Amino acid sequence: MKCAVHTRVARSLLTMLLAGLTTQPSLAQGPSRTLLRNARLVVTMEPRLGNGALGLIANGDVFLEGDRIAAVGQGLDGSGARTIDATGKIVLPGFVDVHNHLWQSLIRGCGTSLAVGDWLRTCVFPVGRLNVTEPEAYAVVRLSTLDLLSAGVTTVVDWSHAFSPDFARGNIQALLDSGLRFAFAYRGRLEHVDDIRRIKRDLIDPHPRASFQMGGVHPTIDEEVAKTLRHMSELAHEMNVKLHVHLLEGEHDRAQEPIRALDRAGALGPMLIGAHAVHMTDEEIRLLASRGVRLAHCPLSNMRLASGVMRLGAIHAQGIRVGLGLDGGANDTSDMFNNMRAAVGIQRALTHNPTVYPTVAAVLQLATIGGAEVLDMAAQIGSLAPGKKADVIVLDPHTLNFAPLLDEESQVVFNAQPSNVEWVFVDGRALKERGKLVGVNAAAVIADANRVAQRVRVALSR
Ligand SMILES: [Zn+2]
Repeated sequence: MKCAVHTRVARSLLTMLLAGLTTQPSLAQGPSRTLLRNARLVVTMEPRLGNGALGLIANGDVFLEGDRIAAVGQGLDGSGARTIDATGKIVLPGFVDVHNHLWQSLIRGCGTSLAVGDWLRTCVFPVGRLNVTEPEAYAVVRLSTLDLLSAGVTTVVDWSHAFSPDFARGNIQALLDSGLRFAFAYRGRLEHVDDIRRIKRDLIDPHPRASFQMGGVHPTIDEEVAKTLRHMSELAHEMNVKLHVHLLEGEHDRAQEPIRALDRAGALGPMLIGAHAVHMTDEEIRLLASRGVRLAHCPLSNMRLASGVMRLGAIHAQGIRVGLGLDGGANDTSDMFNNMRAAVGIQRALTHNPTVYPTVAAVLQLATIGGAEVLDMAAQIGSLAPGKKADVIVLDPHTLNFAPLLDEESQVVFNAQPSNVEWVFVDGRALKERGKLVGVNAAAVIADANRVAQRVRVALSR
């Protein structure tokens, strides 16, 4: 099997190379130009460019030049550009997923009646003892990256348990091959600090679409953990990267005083991303707000693992920057539409108030520009504005699950599914065209991931 996966890796690299040769313009041709013409609605997320909080433009065009958005508006001149007729379609910035674990396609369907602690002990930690190889890590991450792209996610933070440097290499190679924009949050071990630096320097830094984060230890007030946390925080600071930790996901985490531990470690600041943050007191919310800490809200995961409901309204009221996360095998899906619906729905169900935060407009912001702000990338991604990176998706709403159209903005949240995502551009390059991923043999990708899952299941059952 190892050889088969190796062959797949080589074949997939070759396919990507060939695809690159046929889709990338030569220097003599100048940058590629694409005009998305006459969309029913362009949701720019830039109030200054259109109507309302989301900057809506009816019958709008988006002009992509090279890896950038060159213009957004009506009746743009597309001479010399590849023109895509977007009549009737809805154009949005690609989704930004600020917290995921891409290797966990390997454990989809595992422990679906377990709460977070038991789920980790049953489905996650045992995989660390199985010596998952580089090609195996590649195969399972490859599947997740393609699933994300197909669902309209163009930027992802992959918090990788990275059980070994080999695992990390396969994991990163799959991210690179996918064409996604990504941050690799590496849960490296401080006793192998050279590996952490090497992975950042050799595998991440050379790639403009990639960035590095420190995947931090689970914060607790325990003295040894606190020491590790301080070292991780210092290392992240020295490398000028974000520290990304799981924070107050389950109620039992409160006893471990993670926020006090992070404060003592000197980590409470704008370079910290806390995932989940479900069980916070008013005082803690105020403290995190005053320090500029960023949060990842993962409602589908919190529902699946019975973790609780994030106090999103109180967090928003204090001005904390929040993005949405899909959180890997903790919800079994790459569907950001579903995640948005859950973010809206659980607050309404809890408060019996249909206008509670997040509103439809607010949740669309959380899934795009909000995520970009969490990552300090709002100058590059998260909205459709001239000069920003051309990370764009086009939805076809003329489908059984979406039509008829009454309120497009709301229906993107309440009706849309990944199957409505017709086009996906990252850096101006079409990675999904007319509903199909470009240059991808999905059956082969699934077969490779299945083989790895089978090997892991047999090993775990012994
Ligand atoms: Zn997580």
